[in-house]
Amino acid sequence: MCEIVVLFDGFSRRLDNGDMHANCSCVLIKGPKLIVVDTMTAWDSKRLTEALTRHNVKPEDVDYVVCTHSHSDHIGNNNLFLNATHIVGLTVQRNDVFYEKPQISNEDYELCQGVKITATPGHTADDITILVDTIKDKEPKVIAITGDLFEKQEDISQPTIWKSLGTPELLKIQSISRSRIINLADFIIPGHGPMFHVTQSMRDIVNSQIIE
Ligand SMILES: [Zn+2]
Repeated sequence: MCEIVVLFDGFSRRLDNGDMHANCSCVLIKGPKLIVVDTMTAWDSKRLTEALTRHNVKPEDVDYVVCTHSHSDHIGNNNLFLNATHIVGLTVQRNDVFYEKPQISNEDYELCQGVKITATPGHTADDITILVDTIKDKEPKVIAITGDLFEKQEDISQPTIWKSLGTPELLKIQSISRSRIINLADFIIPGHGPMFHVTQSMRDIVNSQIIE
């Protein structure tokens, strides 16, 4: 069974001058494979390496780097992990080889037992979500690492948050992807906020926000 370690909680806040101060959630999955999800900005290499060391992980031992999408605050330190297969959105790459099969867009892509990737377009066209089977409080639970499909827990009650940050022509598909994921996840690690427990009332709200 996989263990999930949130190395850094993501955050985002609007500055007085209108700029955004933000960094992404960064997650280590320890299971049959070692997986790092989203590698923050290029200026975070030292603290990312230090966080991995605290969990007895060397960058060269990591099997997969998975980036939920290709924005710069989610891919900044991929080159710490040169023995890993890199999955950035729907692209699966190792060295200079780009793998054509399996295609994440058509089917779920299993990295190892208990960890699979599914396409969740919306924030960008090639967004992916990582679904992890784990044990929490002695119960089997599904944790979804969603990138910016969910910006933070607050975007459920305040949908203008995700709508204003997403791709305008993909809002409808994002509303469908959000509904699909919240209906199957027990916990969500959003792109820019701490992990939260999914409740039925959250599911009801997100399901009611599907854009027809
Ligand atoms: Zn982001």
